[in-house]
Amino acid sequence: MNDDTLQARFDRQHAASRTQPAPDAAARRDALARLRQLIVGNVDAIAAAISADFGQRSKTETELLEVGPTLNAIRHASKSLAGWMKPQRRGIEITFQPGRAWVRHEPLGVVGIMAPWNYPLILTLAPLADALAAGNRALLKPSELTPRFSELLQRLVAEHFAADQVTVVVGDVPVAKAFSALPFDHLLFTGSTHVGREVMRAAAENLTPVTLELGGKSPAIICPDYSIDAAARSIAFGKWLNAGQTCIAPDYVLVPAASLDAFIAAALAQARSAYPEPAANADYTSIISERHHARLTAALEEAEAAGATVHRHSDAAATSEMGEGAGRMAPAIVVGAPDDSVLMREEIFGPILPVVPYRDLDEALAIVNSRERPLALYCFTGDKRAETRVLDGAISGGVTVNGTLLHIAQDNLPFGGIGPSGMGAYHGRDGFLRFSHARAVYKVGAINVFERLGPPWGRLARMVSQLMLRR
Ligand code: NAD
Repeated sequence: MNDDTLQARFDRQHAASRTQPAPDAAARRDALARLRQLIVGNVDAIAAAISADFGQRSKTETELLEVGPTLNAIRHASKSLAGWMKPQRRGIEITFQPGRAWVRHEPLGVVGIMAPWNYPLILTLAPLADALAAGNRALLKPSELTPRFSELLQRLVAEHFAADQVTVVVGDVPVAKAFSALPFDHLLFTGSTHVGREVMRAAAENLTPVTLELGGKSPAIICPDYSIDAAARSIAFGKWLNAGQTCIAPDYVLVPAASLDAFIAAALAQARSAYPEPAANADYTSIISERHHARLTAALEEAEAAGATVHRHSDAAATSEMGEGAGRMAPAIVVGAPDDSVLMREEIFGPILPVVPYRDLDEALAIVNSRERPLALYCFTGDKRAETRVLDGAISGGVTVNGTLLHIAQDNLPFGGIGPSGMGAYHGRDGFLRFSHARAVYKVGAINVFERLGPPWGRLARMVSQLMLRR
């Protein structure tokens, strides 16, 4: 048999997971230490590969948004996993006394991890850290749109891990399809809602449980009491990092109608100061592919043709003029995009920011609730009651209040979507639990009262049953 086929690689891990005992805390920490070493020893090569795959992405941005948070996740898991692994004592009903009950969190076995291209390091290795902390083996499938990074990751993982513990599979969509059809013990998929449906369908054939980390249109609501300048700064930060190619980037903004002009001016000023020349600026990321560039350009043109006003970063940097050669698209703000336009219907995943004016908070919440439940929601307010109204009034996967993106960076918070933006969550303890089986153990005490009742069922059994029914 060819040792290198997808099936052979899976089989090797599967066999090892069924024959070798669950790794203890020290072995898990050792795996995490190797993962850490894989990253810290290769930061330059990782950042260079990602930048080459995009066309351009700043090394600092890769360090701040991918390398740093992944190392945090590894550190947090390493430090905490012995505590997470401790069996949890559970209470026992009087009828089953004497006895003991507890829950053991045990490895699931072989975990599949499928990642998109937008943050290729953290979206493969942060789930891997959680899977290793929970004592699993894993096959990783990075995106075909980041071929340089994916090849590098494959080589680095092979250098740091035995293939029966962690291995990387590269390839395009047919390989991804075959990957999602493997009978994993758990499959974590990060990517689009559309592909998520296909992945879940393939996993269902094997009864493989899935965690789906999907996308959606994440709104930002600026409440009337909040400083427009401060909100614009945060929203510009969250929107134009990685040129808007961020799953939890604010997709569109709801602004009090009276502050519409002030918001546009403040957000454009932020964009101009952060990226003075988007076509050449080393801190501004390119659009990942010509197809995505064309998709974004078409969406902008469609809205403009339908009467929307487009506020561009600057005349010279008009999006269409930057063209595919540059691979860049300048920040743009759109007002008046019709509800049925692509910009208001689909996840944008690029540097275009629609702004929607609202009259009162009820209207803003109604606009959010008329769409599918988003992955993230941002609320800007200093008023506790407005904050509660927004949190109670619109459900999302996660929330940052008075900022953008940062809930994802909290190791003690679960990260995940709801409904079409995903199911299940990971990160920190929640990731450990996601990749563990909560195994119930009941140990009979000195005497097994229940068995002593019969059969044949006699007077004592009838008394006990009457007692149970009456309680
Ligand atoms: P995508 O769904 O096109 O691809 C993701 C992965 O799926 C890739 O590895 C690809 O090889 C694989 N794939 C493609 N077609 C497949 C098929 N038919 N069957 C099985 N696998 C297939 O997503 P993308 O364009 O790489 O990423 C963008 C999307 O990801 C956006 O919607 C974004 O919101 C979402 N995203 C979500 C998160 C999150 O944590 N929730 C993070 C980043 C990105």
